[in-house]
Amino acid sequence: MKSSMKLSLITLTLTSLLSACGGESSSQAAQSTSNAPKNIIMVVADGMGPSYPAAFRNYNDDPSTPLIEQTIFDKTLVGSSSTYPASGFETTKDEQGNVISVAESLSNSYVTDSAASATALATGVKTYNGAIGVDVDKQPLATVLEWAKSTNKKTGIAVTSQIVHATPASYIAKNESRRNYDAIANDYFDLKIEGKFKADVMLGGGTKYFLREDRNLKDEFVASGYQYIDSLSQLNTLEANKPVLGLFADVSMPVALDSSDKTHLTSMTKAAVKQLENENGFFLLVEASQVDWGGHSNDIAYSMAEMVDLAATMNFLYEYVQNNPDTLVVLTADHNTGGFSIGHDGIYKWQPEYLKHLKASPRNIAEQLANNKITIAEVSNLIGFNLNDTEIQQLADISLVTNNSDDVKVLSKNYYKAVTNIIDNRTRSGWTSSGHTGVDVPVYAFGQGYSEFSGFQDNTDIAKKLFKLMGK
Ligand code: MG
Ligand code: ZN
Repeated sequence: MKSSMKLSLITLTLTSLLSACGGESSSQAAQSTSNAPKNIIMVVADGMGPSYPAAFRNYNDDPSTPLIEQTIFDKTLVGSSSTYPASGFETTKDEQGNVISVAESLSNSYVTDSAASATALATGVKTYNGAIGVDVDKQPLATVLEWAKSTNKKTGIAVTSQIVHATPASYIAKNESRRNYDAIANDYFDLKIEGKFKADVMLGGGTKYFLREDRNLKDEFVASGYQYIDSLSQLNTLEANKPVLGLFADVSMPVALDSSDKTHLTSMTKAAVKQLENENGFFLLVEASQVDWGGHSNDIAYSMAEMVDLAATMNFLYEYVQNNPDTLVVLTADHNTGGFSIGHDGIYKWQPEYLKHLKASPRNIAEQLANNKITIAEVSNLIGFNLNDTEIQQLADISLVTNNSDDVKVLSKNYYKAVTNIIDNRTRSGWTSSGHTGVDVPVYAFGQGYSEFSGFQDNTDIAKKLFKLMGK
């Protein structure tokens, strides 16, 4: 008889061993509650591996001075974090308990997705890729946002994805799969902490998950005392001391490059902070959700514009902490995306000036080309530099290689590839993947209790430290 045993047990044992050996300094430091921050703002930059903030420094550089100016990221860097998901091997044993085979389990990848990493950041527990707030046995886990709520703090999320996307969902919902968006949206209403809704402020995209045929969660929230807004301009006219659901797009928010507000994350964060301020303090999750999506598309213009918005958000929060020193801000990434490199093909050069004058996103330019809304000659104006003859030919070739030129989707996809290729060659940007990579990510912190996050840590340690700082 063969008995198969999931090595989640071994994983757990390993995790506890690791924290017993390595977590000493953090637990000692966090034991003093005197450094408990009143307000905590956790910022996740999805997909922002270390090359993105370094590229942003170059992008932000004033070339008329000999030094490369430090950015808000450089000024607030305190450490780094590993991001791997739950690991373990599926072992098969014989009747005597001897291991007769070891097979790699699905989650033993060392490369995380956003769900496993966000669950780690929110709960302090490793889980499998795709899990939303549940462990390897699909059991619900307690999150830092929930703990904050149970200690009478106000809570909120402000993100540029749909608000039910993996990262914010992991702080509120419990689901075996990140893809169950409707069920996750239901959790936002149905799951309560001591009878209270989990989030007082919810800002981002995702209307379609809240206004459905089978359920109108927007009306349910409004009937329960929430104010509902659907345009960013309404952020300035929110009623104080009243919870808010703000959904600004059917699914995700537009990319920063195509948005009427190029720093919409900053606008949402400012409004969320204002709305959440109260004498008991608050916990706010902010996510620059789309740095990751630019990385997946190997589109540095996309990611860099999201980094500009993130930097503006962090500058606002830095100012905020100067005036509110009892506030803690922590920023990290859930993983790296795209294997983005500053320089490629052996050329010692990176030229961010080609990212500075885009009037539309590369995808938008490609869609306009595919729909004959613009000519190739007009691309120079939108991309922000004059295309040379080779680049013009690259674009002209697209309609030739596309078998059926009526297939607008295929055309658009091919144009997009060509436009991002042109930008990569101009800027000398390189990529190694269309997905995530397993490199460690930077950790930034400032304000009350920030030094807890210094040095190397695991993503689960970030949640553990937040729990301790909040007295758990
Ligand atoms: Mg995310
Ligand atoms: Zn991703």
